[in-house]
Amino acid sequence: MQKIGHLIDGTLVEATSGNTGPVYDPSTGVETGRVALASVTEVDAAVTSAETAFEEWGQTSLARRTKLMISFRNLVVANADEIARRLTAEHGKVMDDARGEVARGIENIEFACGLTDALKGAYSEQASNGVDVHTVRQPLGVVAGITPFNFPAMVPMWMFPNAVACGNTFILKPSERDPSAPLYVAELFQEAGFPAGVLNVVNGDKLAVDRLLEHPKVKAISFVGSTPIARYVYSTATSHGKRAQALGGAKNHMLVLPDADIEMAADAAVSAAYGSAGERCMAISVVVAVGDVGDRLVEAIKIRMEKLIIGSGTDPSSEMGPLITAQARDRVAGYIQAGFEAGCELVVDGRDQRFEGGGFFLGVTLLDRVTTDMSVYTDEIFGPVLAVVRADTYADGVDMIRSNPYGNGAAIFTRDGGAARQFQRDADAGMVGVNVPIPVPVGYHSFGGWKDSAFGDTTMYGPEGLRFYTRPKVITSRWPDPATSSVDLGFPRNN
Ligand code: NAD
Repeated sequence: MQKIGHLIDGTLVEATSGNTGPVYDPSTGVETGRVALASVTEVDAAVTSAETAFEEWGQTSLARRTKLMISFRNLVVANADEIARRLTAEHGKVMDDARGEVARGIENIEFACGLTDALKGAYSEQASNGVDVHTVRQPLGVVAGITPFNFPAMVPMWMFPNAVACGNTFILKPSERDPSAPLYVAELFQEAGFPAGVLNVVNGDKLAVDRLLEHPKVKAISFVGSTPIARYVYSTATSHGKRAQALGGAKNHMLVLPDADIEMAADAAVSAAYGSAGERCMAISVVVAVGDVGDRLVEAIKIRMEKLIIGSGTDPSSEMGPLITAQARDRVAGYIQAGFEAGCELVVDGRDQRFEGGGFFLGVTLLDRVTTDMSVYTDEIFGPVLAVVRADTYADGVDMIRSNPYGNGAAIFTRDGGAARQFQRDADAGMVGVNVPIPVPVGYHSFGGWKDSAFGDTTMYGPEGLRFYTRPKVITSRWPDPATSSVDLGFPRNN
C-alpha cells in the first residue's frame, strides 16, 4: 500500500498527524494507498517554509526565474507519460485524456516561461514637467491553491507556475482523492532547481484548507472545486483579509440550431458529455435542441453512444473510464432514476450496462425531453449523463442559459455566422464556444466562469492570473531641474 505524504521545504515527508485517507484505483475499486491528512502543525510548517523562501525568491532575477521555469517545463514534457500514468491510476480517466490533461498544464507553464514580457509594467515619461510615473507589479508573498479531484495535475498548473513566476511562494493543497500526480509534479519542480520552500504540497482535507484560509501569513487563495465549497472558501478567505479567486461548478449548455452540421454536433456532444466520464467542469451536460433538430440529433448521439468503449483507463481501447468513487457512481445513478421518475425519456440508460469486478463504472446515459424543473437539469451531476431539452426558438435556448445559476461554458452549433456572433454576445457564461463544445481557453488567455461558477474578480491563469498574483506599485519621480546640474550635456535639456 502506497503512503502519500507531503512535500515541505523541498523534501518529501511522511504524515505526522496520524490521520490518513483512502486512495483507490477506480477501475478495480481496490484501495491502493493512504494519503496524509495534514494537521494544523503540518500546514504551519509549510507556511513557514514558504515564508522563509519568499525572502530570497521574491528578489530573484527574472532571468533566473525564467531559466528555472524552462527547466521545469522540460522535465514535465519529458515525464508527461509518467504523470499521465499516475492520473489514470487514481482518477481513472483513460490515458489519452490523462495525456491531454498534462498537455494543457504544460501550456500554463509555457505561459509562465514568458514572465519577463508579462511583468514589464508600464511607464509614463514626462507626466508633468520633470516628472515620470511608472507601475511595477510585485509579488504578494505566500499564496495557496486548493484543487479538485477531476484535473489533479492540470488545475495546480493553472496556479503555481504563474504565482511562482511572479515571485511568490506557493502552497498547494491537492484533492485527497488522487494526490499522487500533483505530488510528482512538485517533485519535478524541485528537480528543476527551484529553491526549497518555493513550492510546498500539503495533502489534507477541510482541516488543512481551513488553516490555509485563516493563516495570517497566507496572502491569497486560489480555489477550484464545487460551488458550495467555492462560496465558502471565497467568503472565509476574504473575511480574513486575503485576496481570493474561487471557481465553482457548472451546468454547461450546448445550443444546436436547426442548420447545424448534425454529425459534427453529435460527435461534439458525445465527446464533451462523456469524456472523462463527464467529470469535467467544462463537460456539456445539457443539449438544447432548437426547432426541429431534436429527433435527428438524439438519434445521431444515440448511435455514437452504442459504440463507446468503457473500461479501465490503462486499456488503450477504452474511451471512457470509471467514476472517481463508489459514492459518486451511486449518486449519478440516483439522478438517472430521479429523471426517469420525473418523466423524461431514458433514451440510453447507463445503469443497464454491467461491468465485471469492483470498479466504479457506470454506462453512459442520454435523457430526452428534460424540462428545466427536473433535478437532472437543475443540479450539477458530474457524471456521464447528458440531458436534451427541446426549445422552440434560439431565444428560448438563450433564456435557459441566462436563467441558469451557473455560467461556466456555453456553446452554439450552427452554420450561421450571424447567429453565432449574436450568441457570443447573448450567452451568460465566461467561456463561449462556436462549434466548439469545450471552449477551454489557451494558456495565454484566462479561464473562468460567471455567476455561481466563479467567485472573485479575476479569472485563472494567463494575464488574469498574473494580475491576481501581483500587486501594483506606482512610482512617481521628480527629477532635479537640469539647469542646476553640473554636467554640461552640450545641448539644451528637455524638461
Ligand atoms: P470539492 O469542492 O469537493 O473539493 C475541492 C477541494 O476542496 C478539494 O481540495 C477538497 O479537499 C476541498 N474541500 C472539500 N470539502 C471542503 C470543505 N467542506 N471545506 C474546505 N475544503 C473542502 O470538488 P471536487 O469534488 O474535488 O471537484 C469537482 C467539482 O469541481 C465540480 O463541482 C466541478 O465542476 C468543479 N470544478 C470546477 C472547475 C472550474 O474551473 N470552474 C474546474 C474543475 C472542477
